[in-house]
Amino acid sequence: MRASRRAIVIGGSLGGLMAAHLLRSTGWDAVVFERNDDELASRGVGLGTHPQLIAVLRRAGIAFDETMGIKVPKVICLDRNGKTLVAQPTTRTMSGWSRLYRALREALPAHDYRLGKALRHVEQDPDGVTAIFADGTREHADLLVGSDGIRSTVREQFLPQAQPVYAGYVAWRAVLDEAQVPRDIWAEIFDIYTFCLPDGEQLLGYPVPGRDNDTQVGRRGYNIVWYRPTDRVALAAMCTDAAGRHHAAGIPPPLIRSDVIARVKADAKALLAPQIAEIFIRTEPFFQPIFDLESPQLVFGRVALTGDAAFVARPHAGAGTTKAAIDAANLADCLRDAGGDIDTGLASYERAQLPFGRAMVAMSRQAGAYLSAQLKPREERTAGEIDRDIDEILHAHGARSDEVGAIVAARGLDAHF
Ligand SMILES: Cc1cc2nc3c(=O)[nH]c(=O)nc-3n(C[C@H](O)[C@H](O)[C@H](O)COP(=O)(O)OP(=O)(O)OC[C@H]3O[C@@H](n4cnc5c(N)ncnc54)[C@H](O)[C@@H]3O)c2cc1C
Repeated sequence: MRASRRAIVIGGSLGGLMAAHLLRSTGWDAVVFERNDDELASRGVGLGTHPQLIAVLRRAGIAFDETMGIKVPKVICLDRNGKTLVAQPTTRTMSGWSRLYRALREALPAHDYRLGKALRHVEQDPDGVTAIFADGTREHADLLVGSDGIRSTVREQFLPQAQPVYAGYVAWRAVLDEAQVPRDIWAEIFDIYTFCLPDGEQLLGYPVPGRDNDTQVGRRGYNIVWYRPTDRVALAAMCTDAAGRHHAAGIPPPLIRSDVIARVKADAKALLAPQIAEIFIRTEPFFQPIFDLESPQLVFGRVALTGDAAFVARPHAGAGTTKAAIDAANLADCLRDAGGDIDTGLASYERAQLPFGRAMVAMSRQAGAYLSAQLKPREERTAGEIDRDIDEILHAHGARSDEVGAIVAARGLDAHF
């Protein structure tokens, strides 16, 4: 009998781990190669979930129980004085990057997750595909999956023209330990999904698993994402470290200059509801520029792209990880359904995931259109780009899972859950 087919997965974050698990669940021998030398567990940021993500985790053998996320029952919007403008019921479950990472990582045999392996390039021949790494080693397989994120080395080799497009704003991100949240603020808003909408900007805050991924009361974290329009000149200045070095692909958080941090904290006090400002100024915030990315092709011989390497949807739907999960599930199922014919399986994968990825990007671009428009002169903006309907924003937040579900169903992808 033929030994199981081998897949190399490039990128050991959530997208790569889910691709490896789903391929393994359909009989593949899948091994993950991650360029970082150390475990990636320190990315302590919150992640919204959707039912499709939870279903794919279940397929990977991971039960999404109360240790995996925190349910928020209500969403509110606070004004500049801290008064509640609008409140609505909601049903979102908030998890954390490192909680999902730990669950996926622990469920994979240690020898099938290789750290310190940076892909340099890919070669193909009639027998399959070979990955060549920066350390000079080579790995051969029947399939290579590029799950190596927005700056994908795999995509850069096959689709150098597909580049991320800056959306015109950054997301400031911050997490504070629950115990550090002032008591009165904790009692008022900790368990609630909270929006602040300063003119031209958008902030959301919600509880997440804390350090050590703990979801117990008292040991959780409070996560903030603050979208701020930032033109390219300002962005370039913010991405320049104290030594004057410019980090074009994104500045690592420890290198963000202290004056940049001091300015955003001063802005927090001036612009945000005091409850949120008091939390934000106690954190060590960092920022990520927001991009759109669409790949016109996802399969190149025996190479396939998934997750952020394939399409980057702005984070407003909180669905980037869900999208990567759906890519992983459909890739595994297309290959399974094609029997031994890998090329046919990959063609089916591309046929479904191209329109799916485009729809996810379009939905999230629409959700961020108000923020992108803030860099235009006021007289060139539409009425909706000047004034927002707060009820509508909170309602859209509550409807995100339905919207993701509709995109999935329209492409027949719900068959994978
Ligand atoms: C502000 C913000 C908020 C977000 N909020 C949410 C949310 O609430 N919910 C949600 O679902 N998603 C959210 N996302 C999106 C989410 O983080 C990603 O879409 C998702 O995790 C998929 O990531 P990925 O694994 O495809 O890529 P990444 O997480 O970028 O991982 C790529 C991996 O590949 C590795 N790599 C890169 N190059 C190489 C190479 N040459 N060789 C080997 N390894 C390599 C990298 O080191 C990295 O570990 C948010 C994103 C942002 C920016």
